[in-house]
Amino acid sequence: MPRIHKFSERRIINARGPYTPLGVSRSPKPVASAVFQALLDFADISALQDEASIVLSNYAGSGAGTVVHCAAAGITLAIAAAMTGSDPDRIAALPYTAGLRHRVVLPAGHAVNYGHPIEQAIRLSGARPVLVGDEVSCPVTAIAKEIAHSDTCCLLLVVSRLTKGAPVDFDAAIKVARENNVPVVVDGAAQIFKAPQLIQNGADLLIVSGQKYLGSPTAGLVFGRPDLVSAVRAQDRGIGRGMKASKEALCGVIEAIEQWRLRNDQLWAKDQVDKVNRFVHRLDKLHGVTAISEPDSTDAPFPRVCLEIDPNRARLTAKALANELKSGSPSIWVMDHRIANNEVLMELVPLGPDEIDVLLDRVVELLS
Ligand SMILES: *Cc1c(COP(=O)(O)O)cnc(C)c1O
Repeated sequence: MPRIHKFSERRIINARGPYTPLGVSRSPKPVASAVFQALLDFADISALQDEASIVLSNYAGSGAGTVVHCAAAGITLAIAAAMTGSDPDRIAALPYTAGLRHRVVLPAGHAVNYGHPIEQAIRLSGARPVLVGDEVSCPVTAIAKEIAHSDTCCLLLVVSRLTKGAPVDFDAAIKVARENNVPVVVDGAAQIFKAPQLIQNGADLLIVSGQKYLGSPTAGLVFGRPDLVSAVRAQDRGIGRGMKASKEALCGVIEAIEQWRLRNDQLWAKDQVDKVNRFVHRLDKLHGVTAISEPDSTDAPFPRVCLEIDPNRARLTAKALANELKSGSPSIWVMDHRIANNEVLMELVPLGPDEIDVLLDRVVELLS
């Protein structure tokens, strides 16, 4: 069978997290087998969606669930569902929203860009994003004022390390939405770990990327209230046509959730801590480098390696280090969002011991 690295020049070691331009994640073998089987057969898609609904709701404790093309599609379709319900005429009319509630209330600090601005995922449905507060803070009183507007179709909240500003008070925001009978849509694309908790906290629809930490093929998992999930499924006859889940995505997601539930959470988390500690221990000895274990800002159950580089004492700046790592063979990709502060972050979650050895040796070689 062709291996993907035959198609690219060099092998890639991904220490950058579930990053779309790098193919996001690698799937466990049983998931790959489920996809392989699905590709060889026909499938009753509606029956697969019913099965996915059971598997997803059993995992998260939601009333129902469905699978769409990806999380970005899930955001667009969740908002479409909040506007149209399951009404076929309204669904067929989108993105025209005449006569529909079409305002999506979103804290300004949650207007994230995960490759495109989330506002565009909203606008694709025909809805209009209404930003509340600013990038520093978004008080719930300001959310309440916008939610009360009679054209509001939903409140959209994002749980991600990409959000800006002081944390929004989720419980209070959800309470206000409830009081106004406005559904709460949560984008938790990288939050498969926390899906049960977010549902418990009151998300009416929760969207997670299957291809991030879950390791399924590309898929948007939508967990939530049965009436709203039905309305998401009903978008198949409307704007959802171009955002549908394939048979292989459905089979891959069902198997991936199965595999995920077999995992021992505690052992998994300990393994992540051990990998990072081993790294930090070795790199902290380098001249001009401070290596620390940094917890995830959304409480995901794993730390990352943070290298703080003193440009006057270390051999390379953070930027030069990242460039050298990327241009070598294998090509090593690190997180560069804090490179301007001379910080390089590395996520080790998908990496095995051999890859970590290669990565460590290369960093030590470049910095000594
Ligand atoms: C990755 C991401 C998305 C998009 O996920 P896809 O499955 O690639 O469409 C949306 N929102 C956030 C916060 C993300 O991190």
